[in-house]
Amino acid sequence: MLAGSVIALDVGGTTIKGAVLDSTGTALAEASWPTGRDRGPDAVVDAILAALGELQGHPAAHDAQAVGLVVPGVVDTRTGYAVWSENLCWRDVPLRDLAARRTGLPVAFGHDVRTGGLAETRVGAGRGAANVLFVPIGTGIAAAIVMDGRVLEADGYAGEIGHLDVGHGEACACGGRGCLEAIASAAAVARRYEARSGEAVHGSAGVVTAMLAGDAIAAEVWREAVEALASALAAAVALLAPERIVLGGGLSLAGDVLVGPLAAELERRLTFHRRPEFVLATLGDRSGCLGAALLARDLLVSQNPPRAV
Ligand SMILES: [Zn+2]
Repeated sequence: MLAGSVIALDVGGTTIKGAVLDSTGTALAEASWPTGRDRGPDAVVDAILAALGELQGHPAAHDAQAVGLVVPGVVDTRTGYAVWSENLCWRDVPLRDLAARRTGLPVAFGHDVRTGGLAETRVGAGRGAANVLFVPIGTGIAAAIVMDGRVLEADGYAGEIGHLDVGHGEACACGGRGCLEAIASAAAVARRYEARSGEAVHGSAGVVTAMLAGDAIAAEVWREAVEALASALAAAVALLAPERIVLGGGLSLAGDVLVGPLAAELERRLTFHRRPEFVLATLGDRSGCLGAALLARDLLVSQNPPRAV
C-alpha cells in the first residue's frame, strides 16, 4: 500500500462531496459545496476545480498523491471526458485534464454510480461477491454492473437500467417513453402519488408512510413502482446473472417494504435463472467519495507496480 493521502470528489446534481482519505480509506477531512447547476455547466466546472483547490489546501492533504474524481452522466474514463449529463447540462468537458492541471496530481476519473458500485463491492454490501448489480434508486435510477470482479464500462454507456422500457408508456425526461425511472425512482413515486391524490407528500418516504397507514393510492403507486423494478431486474438477471443485487438511494431506505415485495415479484418472473440475493447498500451517500478514493489508489498502484521479490 502506497503511503500518502488521496483527494476524492463526488459531483452530484445538487451537492459536490469531497474528502481527503489516508491509505487505509479513513477520511481525514470532509467537505461539501453546492453544485450550482442553475448557473450553467461552466459554473459547475469552476465549482469542481475550486473544490479540488480547497481540499488540496487542507493540512490533511499535504502529502496527497492523487485525485479521484467522479461525475454523473456519460463518462469516458479512457479519454477523461465528461461526455454528457442531462442533470449538469454539459457536453464533452475534458474534466480529467482540467483537474490534473489544477492540482498537479494524477487524476483517476470515473462515473458516480459505477464508482459507487465499485466501493459497495469492495468494502460495502457486495463484499465477497464477484458478480454484483448495484442499483441506486434516487432522483433517477442507474446501475453499476460488476461482473467477475470488474466494473463494466462500455465506453461509459453501460448500466442505464433506469431507461429500460418496462411498458407503462409514460414520458421520461430522456425523451423516451415507458422508462423504469419515470415510474419507479424515488422522485417519480412521490410525484405520481401527488398527481393522483392531489396531496403533497414528503418524498418517497412519505408515500411509504401513507401506504402503511392504509392509503390505497399510495399502495397502488408503490405496487406499480415495485412491478416496474421487478420487470427491469428480471431482464438484468437473465442477461447478467448477478449473485447479489445491492439496492441503494432514497427508495431503498424503505427496507423490507421494498425488498420483500420486490423479491416476490422478481421470483414470479424467473424460471431456471440464478436467484440473486437482495441486500441494502451499506455505504450510503459516501459510496461515491469512497469509490473515488479507491480509483485514485488503483491509479497509484498501476503507476507504481509493486516490485517482484
Ligand atoms: Zn428515459
